[in-house]
Amino acid sequence: MKTPNDRTSQASQQDELVDFLRQLPKAELHVHIEGTLEPELMFTLAERNGVSLPYRNVAELRAAYDFQDLGSFLELYYAGAQVLITKQDFYDMTWAYLQRAHEDGIVHTEIMFDPQTHTRRGIALETVFAGIADALRDAHRRWGLSSRMILSFLRDLSEQDAFITLNKALPLRQEYGDLWTAIGLDSAELGNLPEKFVHVFAQCAHLGFRLVAHAGEEGPAEYVHNALDVLHVERIDHGVRSEEDPALLHRIIDNRIPMTVCPLSNIRLGVFPSMADHSVVRLLRRGATVTLNSDDPAYFGGYLVDNFLACVTELGLTRDECRQLARNSIQASFLPDDAKQALLSAQTAEQAYQHNTVL
Ligand SMILES: [Zn+2]
Repeated sequence: MKTPNDRTSQASQQDELVDFLRQLPKAELHVHIEGTLEPELMFTLAERNGVSLPYRNVAELRAAYDFQDLGSFLELYYAGAQVLITKQDFYDMTWAYLQRAHEDGIVHTEIMFDPQTHTRRGIALETVFAGIADALRDAHRRWGLSSRMILSFLRDLSEQDAFITLNKALPLRQEYGDLWTAIGLDSAELGNLPEKFVHVFAQCAHLGFRLVAHAGEEGPAEYVHNALDVLHVERIDHGVRSEEDPALLHRIIDNRIPMTVCPLSNIRLGVFPSMADHSVVRLLRRGATVTLNSDDPAYFGGYLVDNFLACVTELGLTRDECRQLARNSIQASFLPDDAKQALLSAQTAEQAYQHNTVL
């Protein structure tokens, strides 16, 4: 039986672990900005814009977060996005995430955003870009937190729709080109194969964008193959099902293809039955370039440090492995080499400091 002293010591160990994780300089490479919209802010924006939500209060909305799978999550996610109307709404949502990211020790973030979720509701693309970009630039000014924007196509819509979105966005590249440097592919994976978007991805590559795609989350390992061979992406978002194909996994390890893994999201959406079954630490120990990420943190019960914590407490992730994951995230980012080096040096300095003081 645990004594009060044991419990106090356990609590202080937990606090010390959280401090260690927060102080680790790291990047987040897989977060959907619309998935950071917390219920409280959703209600504030709904009221501000006169949008009625199908929930009476925050508690009722939180109770609806009991998803069965990706499909039931997406239904709620798109309903939540209805409250985003003005530039200020996009700013407020992005700023709330950035404050949290800064607290979690994130020094660089590459956020995904889904223009089609907004343009099909009649919101101008300029409004979406301006609100998000203003917040990103303010975070850079205030904390030195750098960022990139990954314009992501919804894969359950057609390739033609993706082309329309790209063509609407391109005139904004001059104004936002310092931030908008990459293209992604997200939403319902099963039945929406990577090859459906071969032409638009080829066009984006031709235009000089960096490419990523969700693959091997609910879809099989074959989707990962095709994201690499047909879409020519540089990073795989999720990719956890690559483990089912040994040849593919070898290729990912040998070619150091980064995977942006989101453990809490995978558990919440049933990709793995429990954290104890999650492959992320196995993949890391086999030499895969894995990074940890929060995906849609408002919906999946945790931000980046919460994802690290779950891996430490339930999968035995060591502190050295936490440092490796943090280094991986910076190396796998789309920052130029000199900026990566500067962040990696900051991490080494932080480690030395912690070693001399806390550990
Ligand atoms: Zn995602």
